[in-house]
Amino acid sequence: MSLEFHQRYSLRQMNTLGFEAVAERFVRIQTRDQLTELHEELKRSGDPLLLLGGGSNLVLSAWIPGVVAQLDISGCEVKSASDNGVRVTLGGGENWHLAVSRLLQEGIYGLENLALIPGSVGAAPVQNIGAYGVEVKDRIEAVEVYDWVEERVYWLDNRDCEFGYRDSRFKREAGRYLILRVRFLLSRTAHTQTSYAPLRDSLSADKQKDPRAVFEAVCDIRRQKLPDPEKIGNAGSFFKNPIVSVDVYERLKAAYPDMVAYPDPAGFKLAAGWLIDRCGWKGRRLGDVGVHDRQALVLVNLGSGDRAQLEQLAAAIQSDVLETYGVALEPEPRFYP
Ligand code: FAD
Ligand code: NAP
Repeated sequence: MSLEFHQRYSLRQMNTLGFEAVAERFVRIQTRDQLTELHEELKRSGDPLLLLGGGSNLVLSAWIPGVVAQLDISGCEVKSASDNGVRVTLGGGENWHLAVSRLLQEGIYGLENLALIPGSVGAAPVQNIGAYGVEVKDRIEAVEVYDWVEERVYWLDNRDCEFGYRDSRFKREAGRYLILRVRFLLSRTAHTQTSYAPLRDSLSADKQKDPRAVFEAVCDIRRQKLPDPEKIGNAGSFFKNPIVSVDVYERLKAAYPDMVAYPDPAGFKLAAGWLIDRCGWKGRRLGDVGVHDRQALVLVNLGSGDRAQLEQLAAAIQSDVLETYGVALEPEPRFYP
């Protein structure tokens, strides 16, 4: 089937911040032939391309020039591996949370801590999604990409994805790769991870070993604490937790004994939400955007907020945190264009 371009297409329902954003042209990709066709069209027109998943990690401008393409390639292949392992290959267009719950129902474990993260399977490796002590890199064996530069499809194994904390080569080289499929190495044996205090404290000792109970607990905690994008526009955590050296950590800890921080291979990871909260930002509003009242790390759209207002709010928070603690906060979502 040939590509169908929609002109001046509203993305308001397709980004979780709920910003009004109009794409000059919008298209859905359902087959590999359509991908080739799209590439030919982009070469012909010289248009820029934005790949859109669920729009949950993007801050969009009101006008998006060029083409916005959404990958609509589904699929789930399950193959047994050694030691009760299971290789699961998911299409990049699959919904992340639905895939996690379906696998769990089939007795395939390993992704339960990543339940209820919005978005698509194809975007999960982009920022190496993580929650409650598990990062998706810990479960990925390989990622199948279409490389726009080399104009070919190939698999990158885990190491070649250069995963980091909420980071990967896909995020650093935004625009070069389209993720078609992701292959996970999961297990039919439960190995739960409940080291995060809110998760551990919500489960009795026997339930801590049960992946289904972990999945339910993660969903419950997230529903209580995080704003539902269907009701309040947001893009999840707006800033990454900063990693600082041991020296910086010790200086700050002496000045702020209740500061929340965790050891990290490179020093200490500071809870950005704590830094922002203690600067007095939790629940504050600036125009039609604000800081969520239950989690200071989440910036929200309170009505007809837009990118300019959000950037102004983010800059004010960054400036306060830098002045107070000497720590720079880096935004997590991608700003486009
Ligand atoms: P989009 O926002 O559509 O795109 C994000 C980036 O990936 C863009 O650069 C886009 O061009 C690129 N991209 C999208 N699809 C592809 C593809 N197929 N190939 C190549 N590039 C692609 N993140 C976490 O890490 N942990 C969390 O716990 C978490 N919780 C969240 C909770 C809420 C309420 C919200 C709103 C967000 C949360 N996020 C979290 C952030 C976000 O959900 C994830 O980053 C998610 O993986 C983004 O998926 P998406 O499909 O919406 O991507
Ligand atoms: P939280 O439990 O209040 O914890 C605050 C911060 O402390 C988290 O960011 C987490 O870092 C860190 N932390 C807590 N316990 C830790 C431990 N035992 N070891 C190491 N670090 C620890 O956080 P929350 O806001 O409710 O979020 C819960 C989880 O969901 C977190 O993992 C968070 O990353 C994830 N989440 C992510 C997004 C997003 O958009 N990226 C949005 C919502 C929730 P980490 O963030 O490094 O885990």
